[in-house]
Amino acid sequence: MKIAVVGTGYVGLVTGVTLSEIGHCVTCIDIDQTKVEKMKKGISPIYEPGLEELMKRNIRENNLFFTTNHREGFKDAEVIYIAVGTPEKKDGSADLSFIEEVAINIAQNINRNVIVVTKSTVPVGTNYHIEKIIKQNLVNDIKFDIVSNPEFLREGSAVFDAFNGDRIVIGADNNKAAQIIEEVNNNYGIPVFKTDIKSAEMIKYASNAFLATKISFINEISNICERLGADIEGVAQGMGLDNRIGSQFLNAGIGYGGSCFPKDTKALIQIAGNVDYEFELLKGVVKVNQKQQRILIEKLEQRFGELGNKVIGVLGLAFKPNTDDMREAPSIVIIKELLNKGAIVKVYDPIAIESAKKVLEPGVNYATSVDETLYKSDAVLILTEWDEFKEIDLSLFKQLMNQPIVVDGRNCFDLKGALENDIEYYSIGRKEIN
Ligand code: NAD
Repeated sequence: MKIAVVGTGYVGLVTGVTLSEIGHCVTCIDIDQTKVEKMKKGISPIYEPGLEELMKRNIRENNLFFTTNHREGFKDAEVIYIAVGTPEKKDGSADLSFIEEVAINIAQNINRNVIVVTKSTVPVGTNYHIEKIIKQNLVNDIKFDIVSNPEFLREGSAVFDAFNGDRIVIGADNNKAAQIIEEVNNNYGIPVFKTDIKSAEMIKYASNAFLATKISFINEISNICERLGADIEGVAQGMGLDNRIGSQFLNAGIGYGGSCFPKDTKALIQIAGNVDYEFELLKGVVKVNQKQQRILIEKLEQRFGELGNKVIGVLGLAFKPNTDDMREAPSIVIIKELLNKGAIVKVYDPIAIESAKKVLEPGVNYATSVDETLYKSDAVLILTEWDEFKEIDLSLFKQLMNQPIVVDGRNCFDLKGALENDIEYYSIGRKEIN
């Protein structure tokens, strides 16, 4: 089919590229000219394993196109996907201004009957809002249907997820439109779950809120484990063996970050509030997460007292491994706090350095390797569980640092290894080695 995708961020670009891979003719539209010029040459503006390879092949085979021009992109499109951002507003609610702009773009530029599919995460009822805007601004006598198709990809494995996701959710009022979108997705080979539009919109928020709850829950348990002398790794493993619980999202750490959980949890609290419902549990989840992001600073202060002029190495900036996305990464909060307390901060990340430079405070020193980060540091914090860090030769800490003090927010090493290598090791929900 002929498909247009509006917005080429993590969701839009992966959607466009993989739809072209499964046999559709796709034009991706973005207002960012520099991005579009790059993508036309087969260069991905984001780091996502496997994406560029698929991009290059489908551009070569004339299945995949990029433009900044909405009219050109929508020309003859049978399906239009909306994948623009829905960032957080000051009050925590979702900012729909990008979505509204796209709805007007659609109304003014489509030249044939079309199905408008919303991939962006939008508050319950937004698809009807989109429908209304398009109707009010239509310039031609054209019929269109709306379908909600929330996205569940994980940054860092988005291409894999496109072909191996657990389900594709399709929310529609019109059975014919739902069926066409199911057919569009056929070659992904993933089970489809069909429902109404509002329920589809809610599935996305409820899923993210539930996963965030799991993370805050295990983080609370880890803090109690530390105080009681239990070991969170064993506790999580033992819990995860129960199929009703499942082992995923039970890694204790420094709290969730990224472009989705922080904003979607807050947006759902607002969505509930708008219908006079106080989502007390989710408010607790958000509060616990904010507290957890400060936990390594507390551990450092307990060890050193004042942090002024201490050289603190930071390994890992991205909110999780295999991505360059720095949005709402806990590293931002932690580094800001370290600088406020007068520490000298030296950071390293295998992929996210360039995106980090755009969001971190001035005054941060950027290292180009693990060794450089460790060299003459008074303590090292681990904020992202990149494989490169999990595979560090543990003897390096003693060799390179002023004193081998490691404060690990991701439990990358086992306690035995730390002990054998004379590392003073503080981790999450486990015994201290000192
Ligand atoms: P993003 O910010 O990375 O990308 C959005 C893109 O849209 C940008 O390139 C921007 O230039 C472009 N854009 C804005 N207005 C436009 C317009 N009028 N026409 C064309 N392009 C326009 O966003 P993202 O991370 O891909 O997220 C998109 C949506 O998907 C959000 O609602 C998000 O909550 C949701 N989502 C994100 C993820 C994720 O892991 N990133 C996962 C699932 C769902």
